[in-house]
Amino acid sequence: MRAGGQTTVIQRILEKRAEKPPQIQEDTSATIAVMLRVLPPPRALLFFADDAALARFEDVITADVLEIESFTNEFEALNSFTADFPPVIITDSLELIRKVRARQKDRAPFILYVADLDEGYERESGLIAGADDCIGRRSPERELHARIGAARRIAELEAVLRIALVENRKLSTTDDLTRVASRRFFTKHFPREVERAARYGRALALILCDIDHFKNVNDTLGHAGGDVILREFAARLQDGLRRGIDWVARIGGEEFAIVLPETDYEHALDVARKLRMVVANRHFDVQNRRVEITASFGLCGLGTIAPGARKVAENLVKVADAALYRSKNTGRNRVTATTYPTDTQTKKSPRNRAADQ
Ligand code: GH3
Ligand code: MG
Ligand code: MG
Repeated sequence: MRAGGQTTVIQRILEKRAEKPPQIQEDTSATIAVMLRVLPPPRALLFFADDAALARFEDVITADVLEIESFTNEFEALNSFTADFPPVIITDSLELIRKVRARQKDRAPFILYVADLDEGYERESGLIAGADDCIGRRSPERELHARIGAARRIAELEAVLRIALVENRKLSTTDDLTRVASRRFFTKHFPREVERAARYGRALALILCDIDHFKNVNDTLGHAGGDVILREFAARLQDGLRRGIDWVARIGGEEFAIVLPETDYEHALDVARKLRMVVANRHFDVQNRRVEITASFGLCGLGTIAPGARKVAENLVKVADAALYRSKNTGRNRVTATTYPTDTQTKKSPRNRAADQ
């Protein structure tokens, strides 16, 4: 550590930190530690009006700390910022800082302002312009390293946080085993589909299906074998549907919901029949064995309904579930289809329109 009048307390602290990078705390999730380790060094945009200062920073920042891109033209620097977001910016230009802050949209870079003098008023003007940290251009090299290290840590944590958020969103909306939508997604988005259908006066259909005697499958093939079937089953359902319009959700262990927007009753019935066949007519390969699988289906078709009709989504599920129950009770491997009870039909007893072997 440097001794002498110039060494301030802050410098000493920064130097100490630079010597010993903070360890990941034990309670920090292992995944984040791995992410931090495997992420490439954050990119940094350097813009300096002063060539000597730019050269110094280029010299000090090694490729394992930050991946730098240098500019001496402000216009080019700003264009680069807009085209390819750099998580770190190091500059001696207050003007550039203001412009970057005015332009940034969903992500904010960490900005280190390099002031001409290491004075309080210089730091203040840097912070007011929008910098996160300031350093004098003639500061000792170890302080430079410490400030740059801090910028890197912030940029890395932001990157990890973004990745974690995206992963988390995916995890909660997608079923881990089958990769179709999760029950949680269904609960949230199915009512929205129904509202949309009502708003535009469009038809919509819901099919519920449940694998027959799946317990026996597990008992014979083991849980892992059952999982293979579930994955293949979900894939076959999805392959039989319109991509990007219809969707499948796993709403129970071996129970799936299929949502068919803008599909009238007759077409939905065709789809349900087709899905029953893609399951029943082709064996499943598990652990070098051929396994025959069937599933039972319950369909509820919704014609146009009045906007504002209440609890329609909830009731649709109930009606489709009753139809599925009927398929189970009348021999399984079949489709039972009903229409949503509108005012012309009795609300209490939806009529079964079709049963299909
Ligand atoms: P039914 O024809 O009446 O539907 O009979 P079933 O045997 O399919 O129905 P039941 O509800 O008795 O059993 C469902 C089985 O699904 C029991 C459970 O162990 C199994 N199961 C639930 N989730 C999973 C899973 O994620 N993986 C596997 N392998 N099995 C699961
Ligand atoms: Mg079942
Ligand atoms: Mg079940």
